Amino acid sequence: MSKIRIGIAGYGNLGKGVEMAIRQNDDMELVCVFTRRDPASVSIKTPGVEVVSMDDMASMKDKIDVVILCGGSATDLPEQTPAVAKYFPVIDSFDTHANIPVHFANVDKVCKENGTIAMISVGWDPGMFSLNRIYAESILRQGSTYTFWGKGVSQGHSDAIRRIKGVKNAIQYTVPVEAALEAVRNCENPELTTRQKHTRECYVVAEEGADKAAIEAEIVNMPNYFSDYDTTVTFMEEDEFKATHNKMPHGGFVMRSGVTGAGTNQMIEYSLKLGSNPEFTACVLVAYARAAARMVAEGQTGARTVFDVAPSYLSPLSGEELRAHLL
Ligand code: NAP
Repeated sequence: MSKIRIGIAGYGNLGKGVEMAIRQNDDMELVCVFTRRDPASVSIKTPGVEVVSMDDMASMKDKIDVVILCGGSATDLPEQTPAVAKYFPVIDSFDTHANIPVHFANVDKVCKENGTIAMISVGWDPGMFSLNRIYAESILRQGSTYTFWGKGVSQGHSDAIRRIKGVKNAIQYTVPVEAALEAVRNCENPELTTRQKHTRECYVVAEEGADKAAIEAEIVNMPNYFSDYDTTVTFMEEDEFKATHNKMPHGGFVMRSGVTGAGTNQMIEYSLKLGSNPEFTACVLVAYARAAARMVAEGQTGARTVFDVAPSYLSPLSGEELRAHLL
């Protein structure tokens, strides 16, 4: 069988992760990487694969089966996904939860006008966590659902600290509160405030001579980002920071505690402990690219999310193999 031909659009952390994930799937091949930068300035790891300007994307129309979009959710994907879906089946990892309905509608319109398919908001949250929420809530109709994130790096919160005057470098980890996790696991159905669910750990390199007390006060009191949380700030030297905070771990828990029958407790828990958030997200995107290729072959068009894709479409195994080994 011929391989699924993949294009990567955007070569940041996620784009690099997709490049590595494709190597672990022998039914797929990377055809090219698209970038908005000068292609000559972007060097990729796969020998013989070209880097092409995003402006010349349409010229690759007959050479690629699925484009995996790896731009940022804040400003790239709202424009890139509908633009690229005019020409190609696409997958994105759009994770601004509040704007998913609008993004879906924009992309769906373009797909229907152009006869293409798009899978939006694929990854782990949204993505695998969303799937676990829908399974749990569909099965345990009476109960409470909880999502905890971490321990992991929040790019948005790290960026917010780096913008403070006197901060040279910084990283922020979101950490679930162990007592809250235990209360949920014990089927206590707790009502948890923001502060009771997560803490925030910040590691900061200050500029020479900067006022550390002022930096700390600005962080812990920052509205929307930190003021609703118990936040700790640790200052460190740049060398130590680079040696100890150079990875992008993340993860978390989706839990539902429910009651069935005459008061029987039931508990569902799904957890991820990710050594690298972008590498894992990339693996999810690649599995959904396989599903997209199959759905295209069936003549499907329009926007989809993880809710709309049958699990068997994700696997390289045949239905027969799946029934024999994984059912
Ligand atoms: P990133 O590294 O900042 O890359 C975003 C874009 O910036 C790239 O596509 C690239 O586009 C450009 N870029 C990267 N490095 C550059 C450089 N050195 N100079 C100039 N431009 C550069 O972001 P990321 O970590 O890959 O994350 C992308 C998005 O994934 C995030 O915004 C997040 O929303 C999403 N995400 C979703 C999930 C989920 O669970 N759904 C999980 C993780 C992340 P060009 O090549 O076109 O310049």
